Amino acid sequence: MSLATSSHKPKRPRPAITQDIEFFFTGAKEHKLLIQKCSKCSLLRHPPLPCCPECNSFSWETIESKGLGTVYSFVVNHYPQVPAFDYPLVVGLIELDEGTRIVSQIVDCEPGEVFVGMALEVKFLECDDELTLPVFAPRK
Ligand SMILES: [Zn+2]
Repeated sequence: MSLATSSHKPKRPRPAITQDIEFFFTGAKEHKLLIQKCSKCSLLRHPPLPCCPECNSFSWETIESKGLGTVYSFVVNHYPQVPAFDYPLVVGLIELDEGTRIVSQIVDCEPGEVFVGMALEVKFLECDDELTLPVFAPRK
């Protein structure tokens, strides 16, 4: 039996990147928060889907969000703990100013400071060489 001897944290779990969501992670690497927009009816949708739930169009483009939003809902996760994350882990449903919602980690504040309606701004967390993720912090 071998035990891990490295003091380094394991890497964050990899998201399953399909052609429908690849733009989101490519954008994050460039520190852009890209949101999918239906080319036909302009509905914003996240997470990305191949087809618009409103008008059934398969045609879509992206917009760059300003990265500003508010807490719509959140949880403070204590268990189960995955070694790649720090706990307690605050996960929020964030309502972007552009009008869609995104699930993301809330950082740079104590879990007890988070409240519904709190103003947030995007930051980009360089998890490792391959993965950059948008996270949200209290707006300054
Ligand atoms: Zn549509």
